[in-house]
Amino acid sequence: MDQVEEVKKKTDIVELVGQYLELKRAGINYSCRCPFHQEKTPSFMVSPERQVFRCFGCGESGDAISFLQKMEGLSFPEALKILADRAGVQLQFSNSKEMTRAKSDKEKVLAINLLAAQFFKAALWSKFGHEALQYLLDRGLTEEIIKKFKIGYAPPIDQLERTFRQRGFSYQDLSQAGSPQRFKYRIMFPIFNIFGDVIGFSGRILENVLPKDVSPHPKYLNTPETPVFHKSNILYGLNFAKDSIRKTKKAIVVEGQMDVAMSHVAGVENVVASSGTALTSEHLKILGRYTLDIIFAFDEDEAGQKAAEKAVVEAYDLALEPKLTTIEGYKDVGELAKEDPQSWEKIVQAALPPIEWLVSRSIKTKKDGLSAVEKKDLVKKALPFLFHMSDEIEKAHYLVYLAQNLGVPEISVEKALDKFSRSQKVSEKEKIEKTPTKPDLEEELV
Ligand code: ZN
Repeated sequence: MDQVEEVKKKTDIVELVGQYLELKRAGINYSCRCPFHQEKTPSFMVSPERQVFRCFGCGESGDAISFLQKMEGLSFPEALKILADRAGVQLQFSNSKEMTRAKSDKEKVLAINLLAAQFFKAALWSKFGHEALQYLLDRGLTEEIIKKFKIGYAPPIDQLERTFRQRGFSYQDLSQAGSPQRFKYRIMFPIFNIFGDVIGFSGRILENVLPKDVSPHPKYLNTPETPVFHKSNILYGLNFAKDSIRKTKKAIVVEGQMDVAMSHVAGVENVVASSGTALTSEHLKILGRYTLDIIFAFDEDEAGQKAAEKAVVEAYDLALEPKLTTIEGYKDVGELAKEDPQSWEKIVQAALPPIEWLVSRSIKTKKDGLSAVEKKDLVKKALPFLFHMSDEIEKAHYLVYLAQNLGVPEISVEKALDKFSRSQKVSEKEKIEKTPTKPDLEEELV
């Protein structure tokens, strides 16, 4: 049998697609919302019988190999190799030119990362990692969760570099992998792809072991972009969270790696964080493949709240259903999960749609009702949410909701929204006018 055929035979496309998307039985097939175009009703079909997928919305179609290629941006040999490994098929033609190149890039980087992760993990549990381990336990992590997340420690020794050399990796290979040997004095969080491979690291400085002549900055050092590590589409913890997201039909987004790990300590596993970058709409698109219901639990400081407002707007643009939490009294989710683990799940359950969240936050603190200025401020915060809601019924609902809770006529909220919409359209028009239009380009060519 042809090896490509063998890999396809031993791969179940329903299981593979199910790693990424929330599939539902639809007669003899499975269906879900398409990952390759934006839609609210599912037109993406997977046939277990024919082992193919097809989207009736955008026309994308193919088999297990082409699905993996499209999802991960891989070449055919790269996707084939991943599926062959999963199926236990030893590929015979690995000497083809393309295959060798794929091997020398992504596979080498993954091998280097794996070796580094094993080294950091061993160091944490050795005499070198004593303070680091104590720090993690003091923050509230358990040994079980430290092991689950393969958290490690980068000691200030050159052993890792020697190990790489002994295994035959060149300086160039290490540099292509983001030079994991340069991490020193840092708690190491491996970052995984959804299959659980280590694709990069985030290293947090361990201040109390730092000699005076070593700078504590930056606090977090992350792997730079590599052939396998692209910050804009990595969600930390998704490999651990995806089953729980499917089960609960909810995804929680927190700010940092520590918050993710601490949430697991508190028994809440459907949680992810962006890694070394602000949350982007790329991240939300990935989450939207699993569920529409996305809860943002950002830090209680001003930066955290600003980030939450921005995330809500982006979620509405993608037709997702965002909610917000309040972790009052605590700095972040990590601290809350440490001090009061039982309450974390309740807080998640009590997450509110953004406008209800805004109203509950401001009215709760004001027993005698809001002043005119406070009402104005609240509406100002709510307007971007209303403007970006794609569903007209939802928008109308919250317009009335806002007016009623503020004790003002609906028409005044409507007018404020109209004014806001016009200002948005003007600024969008300005943006378009600033970018060169086609006639300009044509002129240039002439
Ligand atoms: Zn599609």
